[in-house]
Amino acid sequence: MDKSILIIYTGGTIGMINDPETGVLCPFNFEQISLEVPEIREFDFKIDYYTLPEIIDSSNLSPNLWVDLCHVILENYDKYHGFVILHGTDTMAYSASALSFMLDRLGKPVVFTGSQLPVGKIRTDGRENLITAIEIAAGENAPVVPEVCILFGDRLFRGNRATKINAESFDAFQSFNYPPLAEIGTRVHYNREAIRPLPSSSLPPVAFYNLDTRVAILKIFPGLGANVVEAIISVPGLRGIVLETYGTGNAPTREDFLEKIHDALARGIIIYNVTQCAGGSVEMGKYQTSRELLNAGIINGYDITTEAALCKMMHVLGRYTSAGEIRKQLNSNLRGEISLNE
Ligand code: ASP
Repeated sequence: MDKSILIIYTGGTIGMINDPETGVLCPFNFEQISLEVPEIREFDFKIDYYTLPEIIDSSNLSPNLWVDLCHVILENYDKYHGFVILHGTDTMAYSASALSFMLDRLGKPVVFTGSQLPVGKIRTDGRENLITAIEIAAGENAPVVPEVCILFGDRLFRGNRATKINAESFDAFQSFNYPPLAEIGTRVHYNREAIRPLPSSSLPPVAFYNLDTRVAILKIFPGLGANVVEAIISVPGLRGIVLETYGTGNAPTREDFLEKIHDALARGIIIYNVTQCAGGSVEMGKYQTSRELLNAGIINGYDITTEAALCKMMHVLGRYTSAGEIRKQLNSNLRGEISLNE
């Protein structure tokens, strides 16, 4: 079969135009993008487009979009060599993380990209990003990247390792704890050792659509009141908390704070320890201030990003019921999201 790529358009700055009345940027239709990037037609393979029924600024993202994206990918899986997803940058790291967990046995590239300036603007980064994402998805004369990834600026990142770090720069994403899968220059230089291998099973990919969104992120800060922690752990039905701790996973040893942590665990809420630092890893037990959390039964998130931790929790809580299995899964490296047994 000749090479073919499916571009899935969800919205984001890349396809936005200024509303003539208010001047604010609003999502626009895909034809705009294809007109602004005529170079797409120069690829000698087939490129098809799919626009989701509602195109959005990704700040309006809800997990339903992840379900829709998985459906589109799996329904078209046999017809295409790779997939490019055009998505707003604000929540791209969440979407790429979520899809990495939802899709199992992925054997083809799923490349998220977008831009900081709309494709219609003269200095846009959208054109380059789109063209490079297509090239990577097609895997022309290159290793297949059987992963959900993010192409932005001059680097390709594993999706569940990337974070948006700049609101303006064309290098908007960074992956602090894992090397780029490829660096883009005059050629695409793949870092073969960093790319996940093809699935060992010959079975087709599957998607786990069930996500449990009864989760929260709690960032620790000096002065965090036990009443605030109480308010969060009292949310009816809450099942999981991503706890953003200091440094290597440290939190106050104040009695009123630890009491609330114990209360949460006693109510069956799963707590996942993630560092607030951009790089480095949680090492529970290194200091007294994390030993308390370890002893209480909080799960080590190692060097996972907050975005990946939240999506992993939604996936694991949606897929498993036994507390032991949930803990085991959160502690494991499922899709290359943590540096454990890499
Ligand atoms: N607000 C936009 C979005 O995330 C920003 C972007 O695409 O860069 O949809």
